[in-house]
Amino acid sequence: MSDILKTIEARDPAEKEYQQAVTEVFKSVKPVLDQNPEYRYSAILERITEPERVIMFRVPWMDDQGKAHVNRGFRVEMNSAIGPFMGGLRFHASVNLSILKFLAFEQVFNNALTTLSMGGGKGGSDFDPKGKSDEEVMRFCQGFMAELFRHIGPNTDVPSGDIGVGAREIGYLFGMYKKLRNEFTSVLTGKGLGWGGSLVRPEATGFGVVYFANEMLATRNDSLAGKTCLVSGSGTVAQHTVEKIIDMGGTVVTLSDSSGYIFDEEGIDRDKLDYVKRLKNLRRGRIMEYTDKYSAAIYTEADSTRDHNPLWDHAADCAFPSATQNEINDKDAGNLIRNGVTLVCEGANMPCTPGAIDLFQDKKILYAPGKAANAGGVAVSGLEMAQNSMRLNWPREEVDKRLKIIMRSIHQTCLDAAAEYGRPGNYFMGANIAGFVKVVNAMLDQGLV
Ligand code: NDP
Repeated sequence: MSDILKTIEARDPAEKEYQQAVTEVFKSVKPVLDQNPEYRYSAILERITEPERVIMFRVPWMDDQGKAHVNRGFRVEMNSAIGPFMGGLRFHASVNLSILKFLAFEQVFNNALTTLSMGGGKGGSDFDPKGKSDEEVMRFCQGFMAELFRHIGPNTDVPSGDIGVGAREIGYLFGMYKKLRNEFTSVLTGKGLGWGGSLVRPEATGFGVVYFANEMLATRNDSLAGKTCLVSGSGTVAQHTVEKIIDMGGTVVTLSDSSGYIFDEEGIDRDKLDYVKRLKNLRRGRIMEYTDKYSAAIYTEADSTRDHNPLWDHAADCAFPSATQNEINDKDAGNLIRNGVTLVCEGANMPCTPGAIDLFQDKKILYAPGKAANAGGVAVSGLEMAQNSMRLNWPREEVDKRLKIIMRSIHQTCLDAAAEYGRPGNYFMGANIAGFVKVVNAMLDQGLV
């Protein structure tokens, strides 16, 4: 494994996030490899770490002043052993190939855990929708799809949303895909309810994270009722995580965006959450505006020179990182543990650094990796495709019931895999092992392709 890691580093030395994601999976699956020498002879690790295809393209677009801009577009088609590539599109200034390869790699295991037939992919652009008009975002999405449409399709590759790609962007992308293909197919998920979308898809990742957390707490005869929770981010995942925590009787005291975070000691109730949804989804404002409306809350500006994030330094029982990768480092993890946190459930992808994960495991914190806990979003994307094929819409209760069943099953799968390989209760190892075994066995069955 160390030779393969060295090759990956030597080939693409700048791809630090990708190397981090691969290293973490390799650490977990060592016992599986020891017991299954056939994986080595068929170069499974070399194959699973090399994307099946990477598409990189130019996206020219024009702003409202008539000035032309060029961004870079990507789609990483990582692994289709168990189904068509599926995974989100991220529009954010930080997007590069390393970040998309790490996300696509994680998505492969994420999707395998859902029990649905979905391979893994991820894409996006370094275009940042923040501060752009709706017309600018539309022109960009149309330019992006003008190339991407050649590479995707309901049986090939099905993109959905991620950071910076919500209902508005999916609408513009779908409109352009339909025009270019001259057909109405279920190629994107997260579609609007009136044109092929599924009920509960916007909520699915956040709700699923909280269902998973509740399953973890149940193993200690506990629940979210009465728990104080820290949540980061204020986008799709964070909003619906807060909503479901409130439903389950917990209290959330923080939210953030890339400019800073708010701490509301009295708790973010349903009215306050509705305000945040309007602020973020309609007005596209900043989280600092929360304190204009609710003066008891405190706003702290982000500061990249700090060695820790003060959001994670408040007394609480549970933490739900729901913004972005590497947002909890070992110092933050130490603060969380010192302040009484006993459960960390990842809504974002890879929000905890390896040092933070080690600390959580040393201190027997209930820790769930995003590839297990946030799989509800892609699971309901799979359910959206199923409804599209049947040309019908399930009621809200039906989708939510299926989501709950899937999250419970992922939770049990993680526990079973961890126990089988001698690490009972280790969700991190359990998720990596279960996802890995499912995908590599399909790869072996399908020969050297
Ligand atoms: P959104 O764009 O809706 O929200 C992202 C939130 O995180 C925003 O509040 C954003 O603030 C903040 N954020 C983004 N980058 C940074 C940064 N570098 N530093 C601090 N804050 C940041 O995205 P989602 O809610 O969809 O995604 C959040 C996470 O969940 C991501 O890791 C994503 O991969 C993961 N995820 C999402 C799924 C989905 O269904 N949407 C499914 C599974 C995982 P700002 O507005 O200032 O940028």
